[in-house]
Amino acid sequence: QPTIGVLALQGDVREHARILRACGVKAVSVRRPEELMAVHGLVVPGGESTTMGTLAAAFDLLEPLRKRVADGLPVFGTCAGMIMLADRVLDGVEGQETIGGIDMTVRRNAFGRQVDSFEATVSFTDLGAFHAVFIRAPWVEEVGESCQVLARVASGPAAGRIVAVRQGRLMATAFHPELTGDHRVHEYFVTLVKEA
Ligand code: GLN
Repeated sequence: QPTIGVLALQGDVREHARILRACGVKAVSVRRPEELMAVHGLVVPGGESTTMGTLAAAFDLLEPLRKRVADGLPVFGTCAGMIMLADRVLDGVEGQETIGGIDMTVRRNAFGRQVDSFEATVSFTDLGAFHAVFIRAPWVEEVGESCQVLARVASGPAAGRIVAVRQGRLMATAFHPELTGDHRVHEYFVTLVKEA
């Protein structure tokens, strides 16, 4: 079985580890470059992308993360983790550091500050309907040619907004699939890790 790491600088690490174990893989925390080198896949959880970027730099993980992404490590980012995987960030803070890798532009806190969190149905091209929890979430404003749209918001004021993407071995969701007890998105990622 592959070992999948969860970047444990900040954010909801434990929920991801629990679901990964339920999907039958070994899940470990990643805080140091040596730990990053030992995993077959990585989850970058939700939290606060600016803080996560600062901590990744302070823990000397930013360059190792970029290098492993460039070398084809499967990575799944949720919410702040989606922002970390974006090549371009709108409404970020000055000098905000990301890992990058997915040719997309994300907008931070895109659903509006008055809506801190909400739930909505999203429709996945491959997986069908999915009940999604959004917490101060970004959305994907624009994708490049090599970035595949996996899911959009199904209805409501944000209908049609892109909220899940994949580019090669990288994938990201704007919502938190670790919070709803539905393991299909993690299973999709585990399959991707096994294929790699
Ligand atoms: N708004 C946060 C950010 O910009 C993301 C929120 C989350 O991960 N739940 O990083």
